[in-house]
Amino acid sequence: MFNNFSDLAAKQLNGGTLTRGEALAILHSPDDELLDLVAAAARLRRRHFGNTVKVNYLVNLKSGLCPEDCTYCSQRLGSAAQILKYTWLKPEEAAEQAATGIRAGASRVCLVASGKGPTDRDVDRVASMVEGLKDEHPQVEVCACLGILKDGQADRLKSAGVDAYNHNLNTSESNYADICTTHEYADRVRTVEHAKGAGLSPCSGLIVGMGETDDELIDAVFALRDLDADSIPVNFLMPFDGTPLEGTWLLTPAHCLRILALVRFACPDKELRMAGGREMHLRSLQPLALQVANSLFLGDYLTSEGQAAKADLDMIADNGFVVLGAEAAGTPVEDKYDGGPAASASEPTIRRRGAGTQLAPNA
Ligand code: SF4
Repeated sequence: MFNNFSDLAAKQLNGGTLTRGEALAILHSPDDELLDLVAAAARLRRRHFGNTVKVNYLVNLKSGLCPEDCTYCSQRLGSAAQILKYTWLKPEEAAEQAATGIRAGASRVCLVASGKGPTDRDVDRVASMVEGLKDEHPQVEVCACLGILKDGQADRLKSAGVDAYNHNLNTSESNYADICTTHEYADRVRTVEHAKGAGLSPCSGLIVGMGETDDELIDAVFALRDLDADSIPVNFLMPFDGTPLEGTWLLTPAHCLRILALVRFACPDKELRMAGGREMHLRSLQPLALQVANSLFLGDYLTSEGQAAKADLDMIADNGFVVLGAEAAGTPVEDKYDGGPAASASEPTIRRRGAGTQLAPNA
């Protein structure tokens, strides 16, 4: 076991592999060691990502109406959450939404659709959107997130220019049946492997705060390490009213930092994204989290509103970081959205702007 977090960082910088005991020590560390933990994790972050922050932008191509029963999801079968529900965006709408995020500084656009998995026709639809997007913005990475893939679909996406595929493990194998009964953990692992096999960069992460034990959380983090995911989004449960996890508030801001640090120590050189729910769970500790995570979503989430894009861009600059890609382009990122309140409230704010509406998106 290590003496302090600085020693643990030195071990990881020399190629160490985080043990379960070390992972538990991170999760159980006291508040008066929190800054030491963040400082040690920041050394790993700086080694691999310097002072850059990767900005990702979500476009929800198809919202709600899902036949699956994931307990955490506002789009699930039987969800009473009053979210926007719409079927596939038209290609020009998707392109317009993506362009807004790109102008705001996003170097990756994440095209997401609800559902168990795409039909071949859906994959063709997304492929043609991506071809158009790549023609317009060849420098931008595109990640698709369409659910469980069938044979050949990852190859089709790859040949259309998709760079990455997201499919989150979300939680541990042992906990999976508690959060979903309509598909299995193994389906998720298989899809990430399919994506990898087709040459897509695997993106797979977590949702924390669903009642998982520390050991289950560590199992999930180690599974992501074994899967060799290139990017790891850590989502903090947004317990929407009208879903089974309504009213589930199990995280503190300090514990969210410990979880991010755990992932950083386990996977030092992977893109670690502070993802959905960061505003309501990290709250005023978001700037500290940037010292550990090197990536975030700008603007709104799939069905809820994030804080104003300007607040995120200010946070990045105020803390001495730069948006990945913006420095190379030599142009400041566009600082555009200034309407509407920042979603720092303690409840999820249902998204009412951007994709699927007539209102300008948050970017
Ligand atoms: S997480 Fe995906 S598959 Fe599960 S209910 Fe939500 S949209 Fe459907």
